[in-house]
Amino acid sequence: MNETIDYRPMWKALGLNLEAHDGLLAALGQAYRDIYLSQEDRPDGMGYFDFVISEIHGLRIQELVDARQEGRKVIGTFCLYVPEELVLAVDGICIGLCAGADIGTEEAEKVLPRNTCALIKSFFGFTLSGLCPYVSAADLVVGETTCDGKKKAYEIFDDYKPTFVIEVPHMKTAAGRALWRSELERLARKLEEVSGRQITAESLREGVRIVNAKRAALHRLNELRSANPAPISGRDALLINQIAFYDDPQRFTQQVNALCDELEQRVQQGQGVAGEQAPRLLVSGCPMAAPNWKLPFVIEKSGAVIVGEESCVGERGTRNLVTETDGDRESWLDRIADRYLDIDCACFTPNPERLDHIAAMAQRYRADGVVHYALQFCAPYTIEARHVERRLSERKIPLLRIETDYSMEDLPQLETRVQAFLEMLPRRAAAV
Ligand code: SF4
Ligand code: SF4
Repeated sequence: MNETIDYRPMWKALGLNLEAHDGLLAALGQAYRDIYLSQEDRPDGMGYFDFVISEIHGLRIQELVDARQEGRKVIGTFCLYVPEELVLAVDGICIGLCAGADIGTEEAEKVLPRNTCALIKSFFGFTLSGLCPYVSAADLVVGETTCDGKKKAYEIFDDYKPTFVIEVPHMKTAAGRALWRSELERLARKLEEVSGRQITAESLREGVRIVNAKRAALHRLNELRSANPAPISGRDALLINQIAFYDDPQRFTQQVNALCDELEQRVQQGQGVAGEQAPRLLVSGCPMAAPNWKLPFVIEKSGAVIVGEESCVGERGTRNLVTETDGDRESWLDRIADRYLDIDCACFTPNPERLDHIAAMAQRYRADGVVHYALQFCAPYTIEARHVERRLSERKIPLLRIETDYSMEDLPQLETRVQAFLEMLPRRAAAV
């Protein structure tokens, strides 16, 4: 955090609990030093992302507050199915609000059942404990009917922040597509009402251009990770994907591309963050919202390198682009609807596309094994893990199934399981 700027008046005006917030920042700073800054041989381009994290509750919040004073709207979201393109089309700012820390759990459990997934409990916990300046700075939260936990939680969340919920179908049928398209229209109208601006073909084209460029930069980053040795750690790549939900999209794109220029040189020079013989793993499953870095830390501390994330905070969220061809407002909304319906979240049934994607990613990134990560009490991903296991075993790709939460209590057990998994993987050849 920038020591020369006093953000406390801003946090106070946003209604944060200053004392608890100080504690949160101190704990976050320590975790970041231990998990991130302790890494050796990081690319110089990570400096920007370190700075963003150091200012995650400072400068970025100040930007949101300033933008609101200029009349722009801040829209908070919890899921990939809420298109950032629509928010940009009303000159709004889209912010991901999912939280990845075991904070405020006690408060959350006063309004939610204990057996709710950690992600839902965390965003309630942050809000109810007065610790999330993003929720405070948002004009509107857009929820979605993906899993049952979120769907019902939004009914309660609306007591704390105006929450507009869109219906996500659960089957990719013609009827599901028609429902989804009409829901995007409903969202477009809501955003127009909140912002006082019209969504036009022009404004959608610009929104699509910005978000496509962001996703293309992340594709470039992902492709570079197929090199052996991997030029960047999985922890750093995850961090970049997490920051994609908060940062200004155009500035972020520029910085990811600058980092990729550096990584290209690393690849040419055969320079990596781990040796060529380090086991390469893919992580697949539930999203890892910041600051959920537990499992990647355990994996990479054990000597492996993560080469891809089949996750919403990863390639599931970024892999497809909206087709950029001229058209009227309706045709842009059609193409946006198609792109988002292609996302293969486990809330869909059946969901064979996700299984294909995991197998394809394992091959493309030359992974030696896959770690399937599910949050406790997350039925969609925990149940779908069986299909993932079956598909990968047909391809003879080893799989480790992990179910965990945000607490650190199971850390020793996770370390033991990850190390045992790494030991059973076939040894890598010296050079590829
Ligand atoms: S896992 Fe599914 S419900 Fe959760 S954020 Fe991703 S797309 Fe949304
Ligand atoms: S992790 Fe699972 S249970 Fe939790 S919000 Fe996402 S889909 Fe729902």
